Amino acid sequence: MRKKAFKAESKRLLELMINSIYTHKEIFLRELISNASDAIDKLYYRSLKDGISGLAREDFAIDIAFDEDARTLTISDNGIGMTAEELETNLGTIAKSGTLGFRGETEGEENEDIDVIGQFGVGFYSAFMVSDHITVVSRAYGADTANLWESDGVDGYTIQPCEKDGHGSVITLHIKPSGDEEDYDRFLDQYQLQQLVRKYSDYIRYPIRMDIKKNRPIEGSDGEYEDYIENETLNSMIPIWKRSKSEVSDEDYARFYRDKFADFKDPLKVIRMSTEGSATFNALLFVPSQTPFNYYSKEYEKGLKLYASGVLITECCAELLPDCFSFVKGLVDSQDLSLNISRELLQHDRQLRLIAGQIEKKIKNELKSMLNNDREKYTELFRNFGLQMKYGIYSSFGQKKDLLGDLLLYRSSAGDDMTTLSEYCGRMRENQKYIYFASGDSAERIAALPQCERLIDLGYEIIYLTDDIDEFVLRSIGTWEEKEFRSVSGDDLGIDEDETGKKEAAEAQEQNKDMLESVCSALDGKVTKVIASHRLKSHPVCLSTEGAISLEMEKVLNAVPGAGETIKASRVLEINTSHPIFAKLSALHEAGSTDKLNTCARLLYGQALLIEGLPLEDPVEFARLMSEMMAES
Ligand code: ADP
Repeated sequence: MRKKAFKAESKRLLELMINSIYTHKEIFLRELISNASDAIDKLYYRSLKDGISGLAREDFAIDIAFDEDARTLTISDNGIGMTAEELETNLGTIAKSGTLGFRGETEGEENEDIDVIGQFGVGFYSAFMVSDHITVVSRAYGADTANLWESDGVDGYTIQPCEKDGHGSVITLHIKPSGDEEDYDRFLDQYQLQQLVRKYSDYIRYPIRMDIKKNRPIEGSDGEYEDYIENETLNSMIPIWKRSKSEVSDEDYARFYRDKFADFKDPLKVIRMSTEGSATFNALLFVPSQTPFNYYSKEYEKGLKLYASGVLITECCAELLPDCFSFVKGLVDSQDLSLNISRELLQHDRQLRLIAGQIEKKIKNELKSMLNNDREKYTELFRNFGLQMKYGIYSSFGQKKDLLGDLLLYRSSAGDDMTTLSEYCGRMRENQKYIYFASGDSAERIAALPQCERLIDLGYEIIYLTDDIDEFVLRSIGTWEEKEFRSVSGDDLGIDEDETGKKEAAEAQEQNKDMLESVCSALDGKVTKVIASHRLKSHPVCLSTEGAISLEMEKVLNAVPGAGETIKASRVLEINTSHPIFAKLSALHEAGSTDKLNTCARLLYGQALLIEGLPLEDPVEFARLMSEMMAES
């Protein structure tokens, strides 16, 4: 019979397995048991859905057997089984495509094989870490024939028809000989196998059975013992989410998470829920400690695994999670759901919506308490997923502001720590009317904005907005603790100290009306107004805006591809009356030096753009004017 070659990628993975120096080779057993359990799940689910009779839940089981002399370990299940084609596609190709993709990224790093195996577990192929020959006899449910898949490793595999009673799969591993470095005999040892099943597969919801050799005193004899064999179920079968908290260690949860949700890092937070009442369900939720690589892309699929009375119904039920918490992973198990609900119905199920509502509330409360009690951890979470929560507020047009508003963190002029809006309000100066904010690329750049300087000097705190969406979010929120938000570039900051300044500025405006108008016309429509400013301290100019659209919003809105018409904020150039440049402009105007005044106007406008982090409209001209000016002085 001709051997078939493994697909290229599978072959690479297989080589990795065969030559593995990974220290936890024992995980292969967990992988095979988990496959067996999945196969039973599939059949059981189908039997319930299609009303197949003759398949009772209590008849499903996974059996383990070993033979020390033949050096074989066998794992059998009476699950759905595989046809010849399925054997070919499932075992001839690596199923977890993510694994190799990940491996590609880390290639060249030390111990890469150890990482890959440890992080993901790699399914069926991991059996090649401990065996040199594997056979799979499988009969698909409903099929009359069975098939035998056989392989010694990289050389390839064969598939041929064979005999098998009943549906399911029997996987037989020929265990490698033990050497100086590795003890493989432990996989042919009753006690060790028992321990491994308990350690890794205890929660599997079908019995994992094995013949256990025991001995007992012979009745009526005088202290004599006899050996006997008893078929025992090794696992407790209680899923981890149904166990009481005290029985499950942090490491158990972490392992379960890494395993089921293909992450190699422990979760940042584990959330357990057990509810009775309008909706009865258990949920086990995890907040990842890092952003999934595809999180902010279309490929990312949000959702929770959904179980109905312990039977997996769907791998990823999106309806259970609001978008703002789409980073949460986990599962829900409810006895309220009928097993027969089809996917479409699932979307409208009232019960499901009830559950989703409670999950949203629970996540919110847990995050809030993390924010209050473990700020460092929460800050990390917010760095990873805060943007998503902001989108949540924006895309709900502020409807989710109560849910999410107090979970937001911002940098501010108060220091390096991030602050919540309420904390900001708590620090507001007496009589402070507004919550001030300023936007820019980074906290450092914002802090250096001319508009901020004076406000900070006066003892006002400013929230620094660094994400594109931030201003839109504040707008959706509207007010916080009854305070409105005000941009430091806005025209009315409601500050008492401004009153004298304002008056002076108004006077200067009146006295220099013509000059300011000339500057404005020199700028040829680039700004709607040029005004004498009272809000600047050491800087000569700044840009502010009139009306609803700020400079930051202009930037963001125009960056959206295909947005059509470009949107322009109504710009105001403010000139510092106490800066020598103001006097210089007046002098030029008095002297009738129109050309020079024009040059100054354009240079000042260019500066103001640069300070705001906006591009110069004509950098070549700006450079030319600048050099001319330098040559003259
Ligand atoms: P994964 O379990 O992550 O999909 P594996 O390499 O472990 O990857 O398995 C590949 C596929 O082979 C499985 O998705 C499943 O379809 C099939 N398979 C493996 N073991 C069994 C089994 N005992 N019974 C039925 N199908 C199985």
